[in-house]
Amino acid sequence: MSPEQIRQYLEFYRDLGVTHLNIPAVPVVAAELKTAAAKPIPPIPTPTPAMDLKLPTLAPEGDSLAKIREDIGDCKRCRLCEGRNKIVFGSGNEKARLVFVGEGPGADEDAQGLPFIGRAGQLLTQMIEGTAAKDNLPLRREDCYIANVVKCRPPDNRTPQPDEMEVCGQFLFRQLMAIKPKAICCLGATAAKALLNSKEGVTKMRGNWQRWHGIPLMVTYHPSYLLRAYNAEAKKEAWLDLRKLFHYVLDDSRIDPE
Ligand code: URA
Repeated sequence: MSPEQIRQYLEFYRDLGVTHLNIPAVPVVAAELKTAAAKPIPPIPTPTPAMDLKLPTLAPEGDSLAKIREDIGDCKRCRLCEGRNKIVFGSGNEKARLVFVGEGPGADEDAQGLPFIGRAGQLLTQMIEGTAAKDNLPLRREDCYIANVVKCRPPDNRTPQPDEMEVCGQFLFRQLMAIKPKAICCLGATAAKALLNSKEGVTKMRGNWQRWHGIPLMVTYHPSYLLRAYNAEAKKEAWLDLRKLFHYVLDDSRIDPE
């Protein structure tokens, strides 16, 4: 405080009627006050961000599919546990170059604990192996990894609700981080919503490259949708999407799809 400020301060209290001040002994004499006031005020140091600041990661260090399955345990984190028979974690090659992501288990998957083994699953197998065979590409279903957004069957095969997707989605994210595939294929709108947070329909999104945490991602139709008789056009489009995906994934000279 400068001597002038001190004067104004005292005058303020005098005007309020204060006539005596009980000032405790302070180790600063008037002269020191003067010099202190004359000194330039040092700039306030700008706090430097801690260099080792780490944002929470999607996956713990050294994560693995086995660890993720262990962490899921006998999951009771959401209401889907109430009607399930088996948790459908995912299956396939742990070092897959390509991961397919579906919505959630159906009745067959729930009974056996394996993803995409019912009618939609059989079509998915045909789509993978038929497309690859047509183009002479060495890709079979077991070379890929297949998982779902939610690991327990929703009642009556309804679409998973946002809170169920959020709770279970963390495990899907960890699976993808642990596998680190060259590309991801979202089967249908629920998988696209979970990974891209997109509100667009599949018809709009399909066939175009997107990214999930840097990993190239392609959205295509869910096989259940393609099973409906009137979807011949969509089947052709899904075939085009898979061709594009497989050629990129299997071409070692390409590190980027675009
Ligand atoms: N539909 C899905 O989305 N996932 C499955 O595992 C089976 C059917």
